[in-house]
Amino acid sequence: MPSVKYQRGDMVMGRWPGSSLYYEVKVLSFDAKSQLYTVIYKDGTELELKEQDIKSAAGFQARPRSRSRSRSPGRRRSRSRSPARTTRRSSSRTAAAVASAAITESAPSSRRDARLKDALEVRLRPLDQTKPAENNSNNKHEKKEEKQKEENNTANKVNELEAEPEKNQGRYNLRRRKDDVDAKLIEAKPEQPEQKEAKLTAAPAGYPTPLDFGGKIGAYFWLLFLPAWVLFVILQVNLKDPSLANFPPPLPPLESFWDAQALGFVVLWILFQVLLYVLPVGKLSEGMPLRSGKRLTYRTNGFFAIVVSCVAAAAAVHQGIDLTYIHSHFLQLAVATFLISVLLSVYLYIRSRYAAPENLALGGNSGNVVYDFFKGRELNPRINDFDLKFFCEMRPGLIGWCLINFAMALAEMKQQNLDVPSHSMILVNLFQLLYVVDGLWNEEAILTTMDLMHDGFGFMLAFGDLVWVPFTYTLQAYYLVSHPNPLSLPVVAIIVTLKLVGFYIFRKSNSLKNAFRRNPSDPQLSHLKTIPTATGKSLLVSSWWGVVRHPNYLGDLIMALAWSLPCGFSHLLPWYYMIYFIILLVHRDSRDMSDCRRKYGSAWDEYCRTVRYRIIPRVY
Ligand code: NDP
Repeated sequence: MPSVKYQRGDMVMGRWPGSSLYYEVKVLSFDAKSQLYTVIYKDGTELELKEQDIKSAAGFQARPRSRSRSRSPGRRRSRSRSPARTTRRSSSRTAAAVASAAITESAPSSRRDARLKDALEVRLRPLDQTKPAENNSNNKHEKKEEKQKEENNTANKVNELEAEPEKNQGRYNLRRRKDDVDAKLIEAKPEQPEQKEAKLTAAPAGYPTPLDFGGKIGAYFWLLFLPAWVLFVILQVNLKDPSLANFPPPLPPLESFWDAQALGFVVLWILFQVLLYVLPVGKLSEGMPLRSGKRLTYRTNGFFAIVVSCVAAAAAVHQGIDLTYIHSHFLQLAVATFLISVLLSVYLYIRSRYAAPENLALGGNSGNVVYDFFKGRELNPRINDFDLKFFCEMRPGLIGWCLINFAMALAEMKQQNLDVPSHSMILVNLFQLLYVVDGLWNEEAILTTMDLMHDGFGFMLAFGDLVWVPFTYTLQAYYLVSHPNPLSLPVVAIIVTLKLVGFYIFRKSNSLKNAFRRNPSDPQLSHLKTIPTATGKSLLVSSWWGVVRHPNYLGDLIMALAWSLPCGFSHLLPWYYMIYFIILLVHRDSRDMSDCRRKYGSAWDEYCRTVRYRIIPRVY
């Protein structure tokens, strides 16, 4: 930039749009056509500024603020936009233009790294020492939004403090009074880079995070509702005319709920899966960094486990073992598994009382016993190297789902006197088998999902993994045993196509995110566009992640549709999975949105402006 006032790399003071505050920024480039400088702030935010909004650091003088109307501190609320919590609505450029300016090309990755490094090196150091401008807005909606953002960004602010302890020495106070409390949570000791990255991605243990699932009252509700619902649908699906409106369903005699043999089979099944899990077969994969900076290793031999399980099931049938027992004792097997999930949850809760604070999940430590029992307290409970959460997520329930489906196909043949299962049954079996096999083949990818990274292990996941998945995801196959639904070949072709489209989106997006999270500087990913965040992590805005914010959910929902279609439209029950899944993923998406906004602050807002739709393009 030979003929311009400020050169690339210059450290200057840049005025924050809409305010009179100046921050130290680094000049990245100058566009002669628009006469705008691109500068980068500490949190990775890039903005384009006019020359009159930039001052040289040396010549910059603190300017006393003329407006010094006294107000109680509690009423002060900044409307000026600090980089830590910008919404950038008042920028001289349109939001979209600013957003696109902030999207950095990954290529070459070294350039991106250098930019990020630059961004982290820059310190927020406004020379205007007065308090942030008062909030003169009378717009209630804006105030509410601002308040929401402040709350969402609180953890992010704590992270800033962690990254820059020296900033606390009176340079500039971005915090409200509440932050005095936040500051106590900050450790002043120096950190290893790995620790720093891990800590930046989450608020400290004990930091209050909002309660999910309706909070404490919600936890009571779900604890009662979820098992009751499983029981309800199991009782329904066996009826000649199942309907979600059949309430209460005809209850079988009390003794038929319990069968000690069924409990024995469930225990044997779990032990069999434990054995396969602990065998020294398959690779060891590293999880994401924990708050302590440590990374756990996991034996990802799920594919091996399902292959051996399939061989074992085939051998059992060959030996004349009647697997239709699973169909005829479905209720008893579900009750036995439920009992195991409750015992496991109690064990998990008790052991979590003795867990070190850094091993607790951020979301399950409300102090309310019922909520914490439901949500899960300990992040990665382990018995030596045996990871209970990972095992339950990926093995007995998931592989059990396929075993139950297979048993339903045998039951259908037996009940309907067929030589081979129906087209509908084959589709449901193959589709869901593909889903599980794919999950186990790419088992490592689960290490970057919400369940593994953020949720504690408690009743919600134990029940979900062991009972909900195998006993409700199999309802379509169960339904088809006594409710045949013949399909023509063209219909089969359409359903298969739908499944493949959903699978493609699901796999592509999950694999891409997993690869990016594992190695963001992988040259093969250098073409991707990303938004940098203050934590050092970036957000993908390319490929499927540029279409919607949760493309993996989109693919999953399309697949769910393909699983229900083979059952036809006579009853709502086989559509239960589709309906439930929409609710689950919409809620999951909103949970993730809140978590990410807390983690990434303004960068997340920018991501949301850039990628406008959550799950379904142009719809939601
Ligand atoms: P994600 O795998 O999408 O994980 C969410 C996390 O990904 C966020 O917290 C964030 O974590 C990271 N992330 C979000 N946006 C971006 C981005 N643009 N770029 C990079 N990283 C980003 O969600 P889930 O864990 O909920 O789901 C994983 C899969 O499991 C999905 O395919 C889902 O459909 C499926 N699933 C299936 C269920 C079933 O019952 N069949 C139930 C639940 C999920 P960070 O930034 O901290 O890395």
